[in-house]
Amino acid sequence: MPSPRRTLRTGGRPALWRCRECRREFANRNQSHACGRYKLADHFRNKPPEIRALYNRVVAALRAIGPVRILPEKTRIAFQVRMSFAQVTPRQKWLDGHVVLARRLEHPRFRRIETISPRNHVHVFRLSQRSEIDADFRAWLAEAYLVGEQRHLESPPGFGRFRKS
Ligand SMILES: [Zn+2]
Repeated sequence: MPSPRRTLRTGGRPALWRCRECRREFANRNQSHACGRYKLADHFRNKPPEIRALYNRVVAALRAIGPVRILPEKTRIAFQVRMSFAQVTPRQKWLDGHVVLARRLEHPRFRRIETISPRNHVHVFRLSQRSEIDADFRAWLAEAYLVGEQRHLESPPGFGRFRKS
């Protein structure tokens, strides 16, 4: 990946880079992504209405935190502010998904944690019912939202400032 040129700045943060093909905006120049156009409805075709209702509640929980872009991709629905910070994939009986947190957060409800870098940890969850969209889950969304805003890069505790290479 070419090194990002961060000469343009907006509000102290680098300007977003926009893909010419799909018009999506990314924090990182030449971000690799699925450059296709998919519809939200594609993800819910042949799925029970309960799954769509569960998804709608996740979106409502996200919108309670702040504005969010919803990006239907081939195999997932991504949620983005400046960066993608969460995603879900609708299944027949649940939503599989993850939140990106700036720290490892051990919790029995995370099925797996993948450490991408010291400030990017993918926490994999499965949501089967709306009661699981509880205070814990909302707190994880809110923490991930800061990653989406790239606020987690401003004053990292414990680690050196994370640089994309
Ligand atoms: Zn694109």
